[in-house]
Amino acid sequence: MLKMLASISLANLPTRIEKLERLSKELGKNIYIKRDDFTGCEISGNKVRKLEFSIKEGIDQGCDTFITCGGIQSNHARATAAVAARLGLRVILVLRSDEEPAMEGNYFVDKLLGADVRIITSEEYSEKRQKIMEEIKAESDAAGHKAYIIPEGASNGIGTFGYLKCMKEIEEQEKELGITFDTILSAVGSGGTYGGLFLGNKLFGLEKKVVGVNVCDDAEFFKNKVKNIVDESLEYLGEKLEFSKLGREEGIILDPVYTGKTMYGFYNEVKKGNLKDCKNILFIHTGGFFGLFPKQEEFKF
Ligand SMILES: *Cc1c(COP(=O)(O)O)cnc(C)c1O
Repeated sequence: MLKMLASISLANLPTRIEKLERLSKELGKNIYIKRDDFTGCEISGNKVRKLEFSIKEGIDQGCDTFITCGGIQSNHARATAAVAARLGLRVILVLRSDEEPAMEGNYFVDKLLGADVRIITSEEYSEKRQKIMEEIKAESDAAGHKAYIIPEGASNGIGTFGYLKCMKEIEEQEKELGITFDTILSAVGSGGTYGGLFLGNKLFGLEKKVVGVNVCDDAEFFKNKVKNIVDESLEYLGEKLEFSKLGREEGIILDPVYTGKTMYGFYNEVKKGNLKDCKNILFIHTGGFFGLFPKQEEFKF
């Protein structure tokens, strides 16, 4: 039996699994969707599952301040701000924006929730966000607090447990629904969601195909990133796992923000005649609702 790390309960779980009837018919496959966009309202999306573990670790270390980072429209930063507000913790968000940010979408919610937001440029973000967060931690600690730094997307060894646990949830729901998913499909942004699903699949011996669609960077970047995340998770468990196969065979599809891109990438792969052996597919809807509103102008009706 695999030991599961301690977590706090923040998300509404289990999230529903629904069949996408029309898409299933069109693609000639059984396509289901797992509604992780319904893990909550302001505390919604896939990041909440990860925060159940990250925030718990921080609280257990006696921390009262949580520092994290992301783009100006980061769902992860907004979820962290919401969790902190609910639990009465301090939160400092280091957000990337090269211009004065418009008060909309996730950033608006961050401000509503009373988060302390520090804006940095994209250059600072890519080159030294960790250093900047450490400086903020030092400043906060010197003022008598104790800060815990959550990396981008809570995608590290501890955060990834959220989706390892999700894989258990899926296994239980398969029994209830009387279906076995041969393929799990998810967006890959900072890698933790994919990492957790991948690891759960291995550790629970489920033998599913875990397909990730990367929404940025490239497959090579994510192979390394996910490997590092998974290695870090395994350290918590005191387990070892060989997975030279991670990558193409595990289905990181090259280059197709988030769920839209994922579905689009998946759809195109199927239309191209790929993924032939995938019959029962579960698409994880990772959320992202608030981030939609600032993009209104990109839609034509
Ligand atoms: C962060 C995010 C993802 C990507 O998940 P990672 O664990 O960062 O790879 C996918 N969808 C939405 C809506 C997100 O906010």
